Amino acid sequence: MNRVALLALLAACPGPPPHHEPAVAGTKLVVLLVIDQWPEWAFEAKRPAFHGGFERLLGEGQWRVGRHPSAATLTAPGHALLGTGAPPATSGILANEWWHRDLGRVLHATEAEDGSETTQWLRVPGLGDAVAASGGAVAVAVSLKDRAALLPLGHHGTAIWYDAKTAQWLSNASPPWLAAWNQSHPVSARLHEVWTPLDPARLAELSGTVDAAPGEVGDKGFGTTFPHDPQTTKDPADAIYAMPLGNDVVLDLATEAIAREHLGTHARPDLLVVSLSAHDYVGHAWGQESWEQWDMELRLDARLAQLADALDRAVGAGNWGMILTSDHGASPMPETMHGGRMTFHQIETAANNAAAAVLGPGTWIDNAHYPNIYFSPAMLAQPKEELASAEKRVLDALHSFPGIEKVGRVVDFAGHCDTRTGEARALCLTFDPERSGDLFYLPAAGWILQDEDEPLATAHGSLHDYDRLVPVIVVPPHAVPHAPQAAPSPGELDMTQIAPMLETWLGVTAAPARPSAR
Ligand SMILES: [Zn+2]
Repeated sequence: MNRVALLALLAACPGPPPHHEPAVAGTKLVVLLVIDQWPEWAFEAKRPAFHGGFERLLGEGQWRVGRHPSAATLTAPGHALLGTGAPPATSGILANEWWHRDLGRVLHATEAEDGSETTQWLRVPGLGDAVAASGGAVAVAVSLKDRAALLPLGHHGTAIWYDAKTAQWLSNASPPWLAAWNQSHPVSARLHEVWTPLDPARLAELSGTVDAAPGEVGDKGFGTTFPHDPQTTKDPADAIYAMPLGNDVVLDLATEAIAREHLGTHARPDLLVVSLSAHDYVGHAWGQESWEQWDMELRLDARLAQLADALDRAVGAGNWGMILTSDHGASPMPETMHGGRMTFHQIETAANNAAAAVLGPGTWIDNAHYPNIYFSPAMLAQPKEELASAEKRVLDALHSFPGIEKVGRVVDFAGHCDTRTGEARALCLTFDPERSGDLFYLPAAGWILQDEDEPLATAHGSLHDYDRLVPVIVVPPHAVPHAPQAAPSPGELDMTQIAPMLETWLGVTAAPARPSAR
């Protein structure tokens, strides 16, 4: 987005103009570390096994239970929320990808019409915008996923993400040191590293299950059991998404970015966002309870300790603050929940057949990707009574799926979210009144949605607590060490409050349109 467009966007946002709060004295660097697909229930189960970085952070900060405010518990809306404080109703980022009625096609959340990377769909400013407006500091974000690097920053700052086609790092700002890093530390040189478990006997004990538990599917060409050798897959550069190596290369690069962007040495506190996407792919492929996820998290526990030490060395102990949290949770394995799996194709076919029963043969549904059903222009052009009758038939058809527990019309829930309460408010915050579909559907407990050609062990994106509750470990600058928390503090933290907390540490205000926390 160019500067003129951004200023227009900022002017259009209600609320006070950006102003500079005094930063927490002595703070040099503020870190937002996102573990992609990290449910509270899973962390509580695994917590006793961690004695590395998790334990250090739990002994300096506070463990809270964060509640995502909407049912859009997906990567793009979640990262937009973390960096802007705004749920889809105001951020405009309603899903990882959605149907654009005016274009007649699907675009990813950070994809422009011409296929380039963009933040044009994000309606509000983010932490990177606030840092840029304050002057005297920089904001950097690193992730395997483009959307996870771009959206927390907003429209300003240096976002760096991985390109599997070239096995190189790409950036919206292309800092010269990144080209040098691509040369000196090529990801391709590490793609022969076989993923073998640290300690299979311990994984069996901790997980209480076998390596190939029911429901596991693998991903990227990996099977259900160790070892996982990227060289046996069709595309090793792509396979890194579903390996601990995917976390390692992101954390290596983030540590390099601290030095090369001189984070912690500017007039005001700098911002570093790191998002660990591989954690999400491993969850989808093998499930949160799997040997694979356990092994990845035990490795991450050690890497987090290294990261904390690196931050101490770079900016001085106490001079950095961190929020460690997640964009969304995930369902336990459907096999343990009396649930199951559905495909988007099944939903779309059922919806179209239902409409056709009223209107005759035709293309009545343009898109049925969770959680939206978009009617085609031909459907919307029907006379009012026929349309209402077809719409009712579609709602009934969706409701007859055992795996769907909630269906409805978006118009009945979108808009004026602050006047709504409870579940109606959560639904309201899920929808962008202009961009969301005509109807919505939400999965029942233990049921997940998947693409026909991409089976999943588990997934997320519902109103259920397993998708909405995530750990939040808040380590403020100059934290006083205490006994590491073995359980979360009582009460819940509304996830719209993450961005304001980080802004307070940074001494900036982004002033997006935020709903009040309830
Ligand atoms: Zn995610």
